[in-house]
Amino acid sequence: MAEPSIFTRILEGEIPSDIIAQTDNVFVIRDIAPQAPLHLLVIPKTPKYRDVVELAAGDPALLAEVVSVAKKAATDHAGGDFRLVFNTGARAGQTIYHVHAHVLAGDLHEAGLG
Ligand code: 5GP
Repeated sequence: MAEPSIFTRILEGEIPSDIIAQTDNVFVIRDIAPQAPLHLLVIPKTPKYRDVVELAAGDPALLAEVVSVAKKAATDHAGGDFRLVFNTGARAGQTIYHVHAHVLAGDLHEAGLG
């Protein structure tokens, strides 16, 4: 059986990280190496889907919930506007194969992020 992902270990309390919001299906943490004034990760609790392509095919309602939780977190913590990024595959920068959305928010223009 595959090793649990870092995100599963965080969810189970084995690796310390504040879970700043959650639903029955999804949880939200701050990225350990923020790339924007606000950088959150929205993560399905199930480790079943490796990336967003698998998630969209296997459980589109869960993907919609990830988007909706991202919007709420961006509203609660940074005024509501946000960029949603799913790195998909190693050459696109994916390092953890337990699907997660990066929520980048705050004043991205001022932060030099376009
Ligand atoms: P990926 O590169 O797979 O798209 O994104 C993985 C993200 O997880 C990276 O942005 C990385 O900084 C973040 N990350 C890796 N390990 C940890 C950790 O232990 N705690 C938190 N909060 N974030 C982590």
